Amino acid sequence: MTLVSTRAVILQTFRYSETSKIVRLATRDLGVQSAIAKGVLRPRSPFGAALETLSEGVVQLYHKETRDLQTMAAFDVIELRRELARDLGRFAGAAALAEVMLKMAPAAPLPAAFDAFTRALDALVAAEPLHADAVAVRWIWLLVGVLGFAPELDACVRDGTPVAGNGGGVAFSTAEGGVLCASCAGAQPPTRLPPHAYRDLLALNDAGAELPALDTAHAAAHRRLVARFVRHHMGESGPLSAMDFWERRAWVTPAAS
Ligand SMILES: [Zn+2]
Repeated sequence: MTLVSTRAVILQTFRYSETSKIVRLATRDLGVQSAIAKGVLRPRSPFGAALETLSEGVVQLYHKETRDLQTMAAFDVIELRRELARDLGRFAGAAALAEVMLKMAPAAPLPAAFDAFTRALDALVAAEPLHADAVAVRWIWLLVGVLGFAPELDACVRDGTPVAGNGGGVAFSTAEGGVLCASCAGAQPPTRLPPHAYRDLLALNDAGAELPALDTAHAAAHRRLVARFVRHHMGESGPLSAMDFWERRAWVTPAAS
C-alpha cells in the first residue's frame, strides 16, 4: 500500500456510517477511484466541509492496486465551484459531465480526461446561463473524444468518403459513431442532420471554434444527439440519471399554451 497524492474532483458521495462517507473521485493520476473518508461527518473532522460534489483539490489516498475501495487520508480543496449550483442549467450540465467521467473513465491514469473534465467545469462556471447548454454539449463531446469515442465528423465512418463541404445536410449514425456518406446512408438514414445542425456540431466538437448560439429547439436537438451517443457507447452500465435530467431539462416548467 502506498500513500498517493493527486489532483482530484469529487464526483459523488454516499453516507456510509454514522461518521463516514464513501466518495467517488476523478483523479488525475489514478483515474476514477472510490475511497472511504473515515470520520468525515465528525465535528472537527480533518476533511472539514470539503467533500462537496464537483469540488477539486489534492487528495491523499492509501492506495492498493488490487483493492476496489481506497482509504482517503486528506483532501485539500483548491476550487469549490459553488457557482455551478447557482444556475440549474450549468449545474445539470456539470452533473452530466461528472456522470460521463464516472461511467466511462477507467480506474487507470488518464490525465487528458481529467484535464478535459476540469476545463469543462471551468467553462461552465464562466458560461452565461444562456450558453450553458452549448458549453455543456461541447465539453461532453470533447470529453467523450478524449475517452476514445470521438465521433467521426469529416468522412464517412463506414468507408472514409469525405462528407464535409457539400453544403447539404449529412446522415449521422450513433451506433457506428459518426457521419455517413450518401451511398452508405441510403434512403432512410438513422439520423439526418440539416446543414445548420451539422455546422453547429462541427463547431461544438472544435474547442477552438466560436461557440454556436443555439436556440431552444437546436439546443434540445444537440443535447439529445450527444446524450444518445454517450448512452450507446457506454454499453450496459445502467441508467444515466444526470444525463437524462440534463437532456430533458426536467427542471424547466413547460410554458402554458
Ligand atoms: Zn460511406
